[in-house]
Amino acid sequence: MKVCVWEVINPTDREPFCAVASNSRPMDVNSHAEELASDLGVDRAEVKADLENLLEYSVPIDEAKQSVRRKHGGGGGGSSPTPDAFDLAAITTDHGNVTVTVRVLTRGTRTIRYQGDDLTIREGELADETGTISYTAWQDFGFEPGDSLTIGNAGVREWDGEPELNLNESTTVAIADEPVDVDREIGGDRDLVEIAAGDRGRNVEVRVLEVASKTISGRDGETDILEGVVGDETAKLPFTDWDPSPELEPGVDLRIEDVYVREFRGVPSINLTEFSTVTPLSDPVAVADDAPRLPVAEAVDSGGMFDVELVGNVLEVRDGSGLIERCPECGRVVQNGQCRSHGEVDGEDDLRVKAILDDGTATVTVVLDDELTAAVYGGGLEDALSAAKDAMDKDVVAEAIADELVGGAYRVRGSLSVDEYGATLDATAFEAADDDPADVARAALAEVGE
Ligand SMILES: [Zn+2]
Repeated sequence: MKVCVWEVINPTDREPFCAVASNSRPMDVNSHAEELASDLGVDRAEVKADLENLLEYSVPIDEAKQSVRRKHGGGGGGSSPTPDAFDLAAITTDHGNVTVTVRVLTRGTRTIRYQGDDLTIREGELADETGTISYTAWQDFGFEPGDSLTIGNAGVREWDGEPELNLNESTTVAIADEPVDVDREIGGDRDLVEIAAGDRGRNVEVRVLEVASKTISGRDGETDILEGVVGDETAKLPFTDWDPSPELEPGVDLRIEDVYVREFRGVPSINLTEFSTVTPLSDPVAVADDAPRLPVAEAVDSGGMFDVELVGNVLEVRDGSGLIERCPECGRVVQNGQCRSHGEVDGEDDLRVKAILDDGTATVTVVLDDELTAAVYGGGLEDALSAAKDAMDKDVVAEAIADELVGGAYRVRGSLSVDEYGATLDATAFEAADDDPADVARAALAEVGE
């Protein structure tokens, strides 16, 4: 169960980007309280109140139950006061509490909010010879990346299907008798191409490419944040600075320590907080002009990339291409005069292409905006409207685009997002590929049963 940093509404997509952990389901609490009360022989209402209080503090349910047991003299939920020592590879989500001897790989700091108070937690990764495990420390134990530690009575909880260690007030942290040798990178330094959603405590050395100030509605009212793009030799990524640093100016080269990474619109996004440190670099950071070029399957497997180049054949131009109408409120495509969010609206005409691109490894839906579509169509919105009027059929625009694109090989650059509906590349550049793999395209077309 993960809790989040700030519960704010991002005005650009009107969805809370991080909902508070929903671990206080009433049904669960009741049944857990029942079980605890009968085990401990104490009043159920009292146990339930204790449990609810802890759950509100985003304490995982197993932790909360153990805490309540301890309070009522029931011990640690069946586990002995000093739990058995385990190799990290042997820890499963079935374990209650464990003792481990580990090397600290990373440590990130964040603030989470509960009951109107801010609580600072540390998160990161631990390793031993057998593997790695994520941790959350609910108080400051003072350890740092590189430290070798014996951690006693750490709670095991499940996070994203994997075991994670929970270090709380009943956990002991001591320097290990001997340094723990691990075959892993110590510290959070990473190239941008290695950054993935869910990373904590990362350090990057980047050039700031774009910055814009923005006011958002948060829990504390209006808050100013910075949004933009940073780059290094390996990639470019969007960032958000929740505690605006004056150093973040376009063109400056910076070392930024202790950032966390979340997924935003399908791509990893770097987040700076009050705990992040920003230090100007004297040596310039080289920024790649080109986007990394990847096979489609590899790009999709990465879970989303901010700037990537794909090359493949257009198999199909999908419905919703050509002359379309958008909701004047939200910009969504209107179907039969209906917006998904705003009901019946007077749609605004626009041009768009949704094309299926295939390179033999996988397919991706490529979306071209009005400008790229106009280039492919060979005319702008007015031309498209007049062609549709002449033919008394809007579909002639999409048909003309399909005639132009289908079967051809194209080089597409843009932002790739991957979600449950598939992979989508929002194109920033779209051009015919140099080599002419028309036969490859024909073979691909034959395969899909042209
Ligand atoms: Zn709308």
